Amino acid sequence: MRTVTVARIRDIDIRLHPTFALVFLWVLIDWRRIGAGVGISSVVFTLILVVLIFACVLLHEFGHAFMARQHGVRVHDVSLSAVGGVARMEQLPADPRAEVLIATAGPAANFAVVVALAPIVLLIGVMSEFSSLEDYATTVFHPSVAGLATTLLYANVLIIVFNLMPAFPMDGGRIFRAGLTTVLGRETGTRVAVLVGEALAVVLLLFSIFVAQSVILVLLSVFVMIVAYGEDRAVRVESAMRRMRVGQFALWDMGGIAPDQPLTTALRGGLRDIAVTKDGRVVGMLWRNRLLAELGGTPNGRTVAEVMERDPITVDADMPIHDVQRLMEGHGRWAVPVLEAGMYRGIFTGDRFLHIYRQLSPDPARSVRELLDRGPLVRLRG
Ligand SMILES: [Zn+2]
Repeated sequence: MRTVTVARIRDIDIRLHPTFALVFLWVLIDWRRIGAGVGISSVVFTLILVVLIFACVLLHEFGHAFMARQHGVRVHDVSLSAVGGVARMEQLPADPRAEVLIATAGPAANFAVVVALAPIVLLIGVMSEFSSLEDYATTVFHPSVAGLATTLLYANVLIIVFNLMPAFPMDGGRIFRAGLTTVLGRETGTRVAVLVGEALAVVLLLFSIFVAQSVILVLLSVFVMIVAYGEDRAVRVESAMRRMRVGQFALWDMGGIAPDQPLTTALRGGLRDIAVTKDGRVVGMLWRNRLLAELGGTPNGRTVAEVMERDPITVDADMPIHDVQRLMEGHGRWAVPVLEAGMYRGIFTGDRFLHIYRQLSPDPARSVRELLDRGPLVRLRG
């Protein structure tokens, strides 16, 4: 189930998850179920309403995305599925101020919609001589322009309230965590925020079983619990990776390969990215895809030096794994030579990173999130 890119706004792809189509299917089935009493105008109204509500969800995600970009965070894309919107971005800055601004920008976008709709709804109220809030409530879901305006306003208020819940993965959870971080530090701050979020989810679960008796609310509270647990894990993995030095995990890999060797020598020991070393110093990187492309053609007598990348990015053995991974992701590298006092110490690869990552986080929430998405990226839900 892959998402499909449908549009692009200021270099950010808008992608649709296949489950998004279910929403429209649901509108049609619901209409069939209600049956003869419902006119075609009502179905058209519902379809327009659904499109507009998802447009507001999109706006919410773009609020996050643009604010994140202002703080130097690369945004990959914004995607919509049946359960809402997601802005996929690089790791957020650990700076709590930036986190608050990015998390607030989503609900702020919906607040702007509320401010824009309020005069219209008020005007409709004045013209219809409404005297109480209940009068306004009667127009919600009513298939008319007035109904559209009030329902949209109502939906945006719900999106704001729902997202400001102080529990992960809601924006309110992030704002809450950022506040705690300034006092307790990031790891403890996250733990407290997660505990509060879990407690809230338990209350919500009990409420949805015994009071509201709503299946959707039950699913939602279970979802909140799983994601809160995952966030706690993610922060613990992150701080572990800030403590681990890359030097411990570098592979010696026979000390790399010499630049004057023939290319075919590089295949001994299997196809892989290899550091090119001379007198113990790194002089280049021989990338496996370059190697494949060269050897795929007619056999030639070329040497490693002719095909290698000169002056590749290297890292120091003391660098934390966390920073190395960000550097590799930022430069689109799958491997990086590790140096100790300027001398080749070994190679660190994306495979090594994934291995360490999996060791640290046997995380059930991750598989849930991977069902909805792909890649170990930070996402803000809307
Ligand atoms: Zn949000």
